[in-house]
Amino acid sequence: MPAVSEATVPPSPLRHDWSRAEVRALFDLPFPELLHRAASVHREHFDACEVQVSTLLSVKTGGCPEDCGYCPQAQRYHTGVDATKLMSTEAVLEKAKQAKAAGASRFCMGAAWRSPADRDIPKVAAMIQEVKALGLETCATLGMLSGTQAKALKDAGLDYYNHNLDTAPEFYNEIIHTREFADRLDTLAHVRDAGMKTCCGGIVGLGESREQRAGLLQTLANLPAHPDSVPINRLVQVEGTPLAGTAELDPFEFVRTIAVARLLMPRSMVRLSAGRESMSDELQALCFLAGANSIFYGEKLLTTGNPDTERDLALFARLGLRPMPLVETAGTVHADIVEAGNAAPLGTDTAGTDAASHACAA
Ligand code: SF4
Repeated sequence: MPAVSEATVPPSPLRHDWSRAEVRALFDLPFPELLHRAASVHREHFDACEVQVSTLLSVKTGGCPEDCGYCPQAQRYHTGVDATKLMSTEAVLEKAKQAKAAGASRFCMGAAWRSPADRDIPKVAAMIQEVKALGLETCATLGMLSGTQAKALKDAGLDYYNHNLDTAPEFYNEIIHTREFADRLDTLAHVRDAGMKTCCGGIVGLGESREQRAGLLQTLANLPAHPDSVPINRLVQVEGTPLAGTAELDPFEFVRTIAVARLLMPRSMVRLSAGRESMSDELQALCFLAGANSIFYGEKLLTTGNPDTERDLALFARLGLRPMPLVETAGTVHADIVEAGNAAPLGTDTAGTDAASHACAA
């Protein structure tokens, strides 16, 4: 293990040239030192008491031709997930209204496709327009996109496109065989070129090594632009998928992954996503301390009175956390990443505020 003084403290402005050794050195820091650094960087760019809340709705479930080893929606695995058709715009809109009422500021629509058919793009575009009209940020995850499809979604008003790198480049072919790592990078390029913000992270607990977790985060941080949102998923093992029975990831290693993501991509939303439901309150609190500042409410959490929603609200109250408000300033929203050293304050009034110092406001 390197001495604390040997590990790299990330400077400002944002870097896109992280070496694997540098990322690995951060992972190898003593746990208290790593958390201290990540918490400090978190406060430089965000109000550390605010957590952005996104809601994910599956608008088309199951029947996917891909073979992602973790996914119950892959047609080839017998997981009990029934394939559904694309939801109607009206039904999606109803869910979006519920999400907004539950405190969500961003609504993500997911479809289990390898890539959307061109004939589906107008249907998804209609959903995006309607959801956006509610005053929610819009996000979609539909699989691989062509440049033309990305532009059509952007024209419909899509703010974010989610497309995860899944895992490290060198581990990719252990998990997925129906596409290449480079395919992911191509779609992300189309999304950026169309002018949309990217939501891009990965999954840990797939049986990868720490070196490979470092490889995932290194690749994310070295993209031409840091993803605006970085979902860090913890594998949810589903019977019938090839990864069921994988050794559980040490919870502290998950926290380390969150902390390193925060250090490498200091102005991105680092999101606790899949696997959060099975985390203890204490583990989630450690993740927030390590720089996580966004959570996913899953589709099943949309109804009020749901025990999981109640648990989240209670946890926010116990920890003194608040949902991050959606702030529109001059056509931009709080989650924008500003690559120069003058990021706008996030979730706060910009007037007269020092962006480099965000203490928790009551
Ligand atoms: S592409 Fe998406 S829906 Fe399809 S198997 Fe992979 S993770 Fe599941």
